[in-house]
Amino acid sequence: MNELIGRVFDFEKQVFPVQAELFAKLTTDGQSPKALMISCADSRVVPEQIMQAQPGDLFVCRNAGNIVPPFATMNGGVSSTVEYAVMALGVRDIIVCGHSDCGAMKGLTTPEALEKMPNVAAWLRHSKAADEVVRQGYPGLKDGERVRALSMENVVAQIAHLRTHPSVAAGLARGEISLHGWFVDIHAGQVLGLDGQTGRFMPLRADQELPVAVPAAQRLASDVSFLQAAE
Ligand code: ZN
Repeated sequence: MNELIGRVFDFEKQVFPVQAELFAKLTTDGQSPKALMISCADSRVVPEQIMQAQPGDLFVCRNAGNIVPPFATMNGGVSSTVEYAVMALGVRDIIVCGHSDCGAMKGLTTPEALEKMPNVAAWLRHSKAADEVVRQGYPGLKDGERVRALSMENVVAQIAHLRTHPSVAAGLARGEISLHGWFVDIHAGQVLGLDGQTGRFMPLRADQELPVAVPAAQRLASDVSFLQAAE
């Protein structure tokens, strides 16, 4: 038997008993995860490990390229997961997490490699904006550096897509939701965070303020109360 598949027997006998109390509480009270993470499906990026999350802590959606299709373009797993996390679970922090050496981003730069993978090619169209930003904004980059830049710009693009989802847009307007863009460098073991103020990624440091892509701040475009106050 595949050695990995065989490890499933350990869950019942060894893993679950240690956390039986936690699972009992989660079963009785239901789940109330503290964040939604949308990460790449890459086996080297493990959201629960990065967050040191226990069962019940983290709502996770994974796919090739940590992509969030814009709301109107398709009704699929990512859209439903985002909507459920925000509307049903009340999640207030959403993290889009890309990473170094991403196969999906490599595919985006070499479309000929995707000729026999029409679904992947179609899926990666949701990252075309990032691809174009890199083509025009980083003309000198090659290979690994290009993939790295593309992975970061892809996080920016997917955060923009997230904002097209009604549940997220309304949560942002209420000032109750924050959007985070992270990049995991799997070579250096380092996590970078997108700072919405500067538009750049920076290392996450415990002794510094956490960079946030879109901070929670109430925003109502038609709020004219400040004009009336000035009159
Ligand atoms: Zn990836």
